[in-house]
Amino acid sequence: MNTDRKALWAVRESALPAVVRPCPDCSSSRHRPSGKIRVNASGKLLDVWLLLSCAGCDRTSKVPVHERVHVSSLEPARLVAYENNDPAVVRELAISQSLAAKNGYRLDWTGTWEVETRTPLYALDDPAPFSVLVSFEWPAPVRVERLLMRGLGLSRSGVRRMVEDGRIHLPLALDAKAHRDFELTVHDLGSVDAAKHSKLLGAPSDVRSVLSRVGLHDSSQHASRSAAGA
Ligand SMILES: [Zn+2]
Repeated sequence: MNTDRKALWAVRESALPAVVRPCPDCSSSRHRPSGKIRVNASGKLLDVWLLLSCAGCDRTSKVPVHERVHVSSLEPARLVAYENNDPAVVRELAISQSLAAKNGYRLDWTGTWEVETRTPLYALDDPAPFSVLVSFEWPAPVRVERLLMRGLGLSRSGVRRMVEDGRIHLPLALDAKAHRDFELTVHDLGSVDAAKHSKLLGAPSDVRSVLSRVGLHDSSQHASRSAAGA
């Protein structure tokens, strides 16, 4: 559906995914990148590992990134980044599906993302439909239902009810995991308790400051609306 009312939600990083593989020393299977990369030189040959810490016992383990590669085969800047534990490179390795596949472990993306709702405030209690462009700035696979719960500030049953009533139009199933940009349409969000949506923007003072910044409503109007919706 075409609507000129558009909101933008951005899926952003909140943590690195866990590396799931058995720990030889404890019963945990979850590991976090330690933030370090180890480089070992033997003559002109290099080994490079990403270092992990076990979430259960802190045991350090290694994921081979390069094995016995000739020093000239790595870009000098890349080598410097490895030697300096460059956080951007640690992050890149920690989310690499190809490194995971090559080394036989799985990435668990649970709890690694948040949604930033850059929702224009007219959407909060206006029954007119609006579309939401969900853009992925972080490659976490995100369950659509959870995204809607967070983005709209609704419970699981609230989201399900809106989808069943046809008030949310989705290009994906609620149970699907999205990892690419998509667009959805929301109809008549205004009939849902408006006070719940104040959660979208955090504390009420944030709402008021944003409201006054965009010049849509003054704080007294907002306060009365929240009270009416509560
Ligand atoms: Zn362990």
